[in-house]
Amino acid sequence: MDRGILHCDCNSYFASVEVLMNPELRGKPVAVAGDPESRHGIVVAASLEAKKYGIRTTDTVYQARKKCPDVIFVPPRHHLYSEISRDINQIYLEYTDLVEPFSVDESFIDLTGTIRYQRGEFVSVADELRKRIREEIGITISVGASFNKVFAKLASDMKKPDATTYIPRERMESIVWPLPVTDLLFVGKRTGEALQRLGILTIGDAARQDRSFLVDRLGKHGGMIWDYANGNDQEPVRSYYEEREVKSVSNSCTYPKDLMTLDEISDGVYILSDSVASRLRKAGKKGYTIQIQLKDSGFHTISRQKALSVPTHLRKEIAEVSMDLIRSNWNPGTPIRLISVGCTDLVDSEESGTQLSLFEDRTSWDREKQEKLESTVDQIRNKLGKSSISFGLDAKASYGKTNGKQK
Ligand SMILES: [Mg+2]
Repeated sequence: MDRGILHCDCNSYFASVEVLMNPELRGKPVAVAGDPESRHGIVVAASLEAKKYGIRTTDTVYQARKKCPDVIFVPPRHHLYSEISRDINQIYLEYTDLVEPFSVDESFIDLTGTIRYQRGEFVSVADELRKRIREEIGITISVGASFNKVFAKLASDMKKPDATTYIPRERMESIVWPLPVTDLLFVGKRTGEALQRLGILTIGDAARQDRSFLVDRLGKHGGMIWDYANGNDQEPVRSYYEEREVKSVSNSCTYPKDLMTLDEISDGVYILSDSVASRLRKAGKKGYTIQIQLKDSGFHTISRQKALSVPTHLRKEIAEVSMDLIRSNWNPGTPIRLISVGCTDLVDSEESGTQLSLFEDRTSWDREKQEKLESTVDQIRNKLGKSSISFGLDAKASYGKTNGKQK
């Protein structure tokens, strides 16, 4: 029997929440924009009315105002969006525990094991959820219903706002195959271009190839695209209550003033490495790969990574490897706007402990001493708060907005 999976996607979510909180905005062109005072602020969400004027996310405040002089800008309130997102998921959870948030405004729901699904009420549950979210929360959602996550996600994008789209297996070829291949989950612009060069424009084009041809040209990703195009996505919907395993930890900072010297960059890197390291230790993880990203003032990006022979969760090591990567890839004098430091290929700290002793410590510093130092800092921070102790750099370079990520 096929699975019954829904993808629920809130329509113009941030803008809808702002209108909900301030009814005076209803029916008006509203754009949520970071830093609306500055013409360079970026639109992160637009109401339906604003979209009618052609306002899109990633427009600048300046561009948006040009498209619609009456547009009302509001700054984002992310804590509010998370709070209402939790309320919405609570409604989904009345049907099953298999509710997996995909982002703050999207969730997958697996109804396969429920009585409603067994009774053939799959699509009517989708309609019921739309009605309940509209009446109990006050915003609208679009729901995609299908036999796997990829098609459910695709379906929720097909009709907006406040609509249900159902793709049963027997209609896959007529509904899904004519769509552009870039509509598939995880097929980005660059993969789309690579596929286009192979003459593959639609999902059907991809589905009709030999799987081995796509694997040959695009590697593992090509095989995944073929599977998705043919409806062979087996990914389960995870339980809402399942502990999510941390797969990578990163932290980035956008600086209001360009960083020009290696010293300035180094200060930034040490601060970011500190937070990455302490989050790794908190999650009980160590990572085998250090990743950095630099964005210059022209938004040109350099991304580099280095594999380690011994996994780490130490600020000192993460920062030193990051700086090595930067020294050999940064063109001195190029102004830097954003730095990101990350750690991936994670393993449990305990598992890696025994491995560690097998290696001779080849670093110039004493790992054990550093472990003690950094874990002491953790303990002090746990007791007295995050900002109670630092490694002596924060005051100098703590300006700028940092943005931590855990995946
Ligand atoms: Mg949405």
